[in-house]
Amino acid sequence: MTIDFTCQKCDATFEIDVQDLIDGSEKLICTSCETKAPPTLVEDFVAALTEMRTQVAALGKKFSLAMAFETEDLEDLDAKDAEEDEEDEDEDDLEDDDDDLDDEDEDAVDDEDESR
Ligand SMILES: [Zn+2]
Repeated sequence: MTIDFTCQKCDATFEIDVQDLIDGSEKLICTSCETKAPPTLVEDFVAALTEMRTQVAALGKKFSLAMAFETEDLEDLDAKDAEEDEEDEDEDDLEDDDDDLDDEDEDAVDDEDESR
């Protein structure tokens, strides 16, 4: 199982075997410009991969699987979290999220109206 990475800084693509990441023989580092992610972030990422691998193996008795995670697919999640953490500062972001979150946004709009 390998993961394809694209460096946000220099746009280089490289792939790392999950097993190598987990056992530490391969570091998450851009092969082109040597950009690194913060060590704590990499640690959590590897821990999550380790857990995922365990669960996929356990599930393997009933189902085999292949899956794809793409950062682009997850950007809505990030926006939603930020909105909950910093409601006051993220009014601009609310407009972007209207399409996806009609029900939740009605509540947010009500709150703002009361405070005016
Ligand atoms: Zn790079």
